[in-house]
Parts: sequence; structure tokens; C-alpha cells
Amino acid sequence: MTPSQDTTTTSPWHLAQRCARMNPSVIREILKLTELPGVRSLAGGLPSADTFPVEAMRDAAARVLADTPREALQYAASEGFGPLREWVSAQMTAAGLDAPAERILITNGSQQGLDLIGKVMLDEGSTVAVETPTYLGALQAFTPNQPVFAAVECDRDGPLADGIARLPRGTRFMYVLPNFQNPTGRVVPAARRDEIVAAAQRAGVPLVEDNPYGDLWYDQAPPRPLASRWAEGTLYLGSFSKVLAPGLRLGYMVCPQPLFSKVLQAKQAADLHTGSFTQRVVHQVIRDGFLAQHIPTIRDRYRVQRDAMAAALRAHLPAGSEWQAPSGGMFFWVRLPEGCDAMALLPKAVEAGVAYVPGAAFFAENADVRTLRLSFVTLAPADIEDAVAKLGGVLKTHLADRSPVAA
Ligand code: PMP
Repeated sequence: MTPSQDTTTTSPWHLAQRCARMNPSVIREILKLTELPGVRSLAGGLPSADTFPVEAMRDAAARVLADTPREALQYAASEGFGPLREWVSAQMTAAGLDAPAERILITNGSQQGLDLIGKVMLDEGSTVAVETPTYLGALQAFTPNQPVFAAVECDRDGPLADGIARLPRGTRFMYVLPNFQNPTGRVVPAARRDEIVAAAQRAGVPLVEDNPYGDLWYDQAPPRPLASRWAEGTLYLGSFSKVLAPGLRLGYMVCPQPLFSKVLQAKQAADLHTGSFTQRVVHQVIRDGFLAQHIPTIRDRYRVQRDAMAAALRAHLPAGSEWQAPSGGMFFWVRLPEGCDAMALLPKAVEAGVAYVPGAAFFAENADVRTLRLSFVTLAPADIEDAVAKLGGVLKTHLADRSPVAA
């Protein structure tokens, strides 16, 4: 018997090659650190639990169990609960999309939408275009399909049309977050949206538009979606995570007709369907205009926190740090002065009692180690001030230690 056949020491399990490229999310690893006592976390991408509509959910759950218990607890259609698809269709049509209910797919969060798109659209070696930087969870969702990422150059207004024009022929799609991007917080202005769509059309590259943050605007509503500018070439993803609660795991996709049946088959294979009970409860909550009252209360809360963080950054970050106050969403994106590596500095920050997400994880290539992402929605304004003061202290000490001592 050769040593490799020794069943007492050799595992019988063999992993697929694709696992070599799967990594634990850096963010999830960091979140563990942030749970240490005494650490104020600016790291998580979690909405504030104070915004969850607990009463409305409780009432709706009771109502669904009273009125339709057998249906709510039974297997159901893979496409999703009909009235919820109708509701999404009406909302999306009002937003300018070509979104009949037959092409709405209800998903387990928009994260599942990303996974399904990867399965249906990507082969090993396919090119998928992403922004620089982009949402880490999308990189994670696409990676098992073994694509090649093409990072499109971006400025403060989002992806540059020239970068799209230079994409390799046959690029399967470009993944874009036009509203209050995770991680940069940037919003793509209307004129740039037109340029992106025109460049993508010329290059023959369809778009996957991910919009979990669009309703969280604090100054003015964002311009209309890319999908309203190029219906047949844009697949649109929406989510209830930021406007109701992420634990529901409820999102949706407006799927161009040629893709719908394949995405649906992938959904069937993945989980048969999104939870019937959850879909019915959420539909019960939102059916009569609940979100029109609820979302402004979230905006009012987050706006105050956004302003608190902007003031704290101005007061405490060392000279040479750069950021732009976001007009919506949940994040500030900061670029530290030269000589600061956000990943290397994180242990010192945690020791000082503050955590953040180093920006490097959000780059498909050529990571900028000076960047970091700060969430402003989980801490109260006074705690934001305290956390940013601690961060500023760590950075200033680091910069002072490395500057040459005057003779
Ligand atoms: N896309 C982006 C840009 C996100 O930030 C998130 C959540 N962090 C998701 C998708 C996934 O959201 P959901 O809860 O709908 O799966």
C-alpha cells in the first residue's frame, strides 16, 4: 500500500479546482475582530437595527399566518410570490425600467442574484468587467466560475467610458453600482450614465446594475437607472436589505428576456425558491405604501450620522487624508496620506478601540493600500466622533513615528 492510499491519514475528500480561488471574505474576518469588547466598529456593512420595522413585521406575520397559513408554509414557485413580483414590477416601471412581472425573479437577497448571474454568464477564462474598486461580495460571487476580472478605470464620478471602450471583445458583462457605491459611496451623475451606456453599447458589453442603496439618499435622489437607458442590455438587481431588513434575505432581479429562463433554472437548482413565508410577510408589509413613510425615517437618521462622520473626519484625520462626503448610502471612502498602509495599521487601530475595513479587498487588481472604508450607520453620532478621534490618533502617531527626527 502506498502512503497516499493510507486511509488512516489521507482525507477521502477532494476539492474542486475552483475552490483554490475561493477565499474567506476579509470583511467577515474583520467583523470578528470588531466584536471584541471595547472596539468601536466602523467596519461592518450592516444597516442600523434601529431602522427595522419590527411592529409592522410582527403584524404582517400574524396576518399571513391567519389568512394563508397553508400557502405561506408550502413549497412555491421558483419565480417568486406573484403579488410581490407585481409590486416590484410596478415600482420598477415607475422608475423607468421595462419590467413586466414575468421578468421579475425574487431572490434570496441581491447577493444570490450575483451568484446566479455568475453561473449563467461566466465560463472559465471569461472576462467580467468591474469598477475600481468594487463590491467585494460580487468578486466573491463571480470568482468560483474562474473568470478573468478587467478593472475599469474610474474617477470620482464612476467608470470612465474610455475604459469600457478598451474592454476585450467578448467581455461577458460589466458589473456597475451607480448609486452610493460600496465601497466608495460615489454616485454616477446622469451625463456619465449616458456615456457608460453608450460605450457599453458600442463595445457590445451588457451591464449588470446593482442598486441596493438607491433609496438611501440624503441630499437629492440619484439619476434614473442605467436599466432605464438600455433596457435590453441591462440586468438590474434590487434588494429589501437596506430599506427593510437584511435578515429577511430578500431581493429581486429584473432580467432581460433572453436570460430569464436560464437564470430561473439556476435558481431552481440553487434553492427551489425564496422562502414563501418571508415573501408573503414582506408583501403584506409593503403593499399599501409602507415604504413611502418608512424610508424617509431611515434617511433622516443616516443623514445625521453622515454629517457627524464628515465633521469628525475634518476634525481628526491627519493632513493629506482625502475623502468625499457621500450623498447617500452607508460609507465613507478614505485615502490616507503617503506611508500609511490601512491593512498593516488595522491591528493598531483595533488595539486603540476602533475598526475599519482596509480598502485593498475591494480591488480586482492593483489594490490601493492607502484606502479604507468607514461605515457611518451603525454607531450613534457621539460614538462616531469618538471612533474617528481614535483612528486619527493612530494615524498621527504612525506618521510621527516614521518621519525623520529633527537633528
Ligand atoms: N450588492 C452590494 C453592493 C451590497 O453592498 C450588498 C450588501 N452588502 C449586496 C449586494 C447584497 O445585499 P443583499 O442583502 O440584498 O444580498
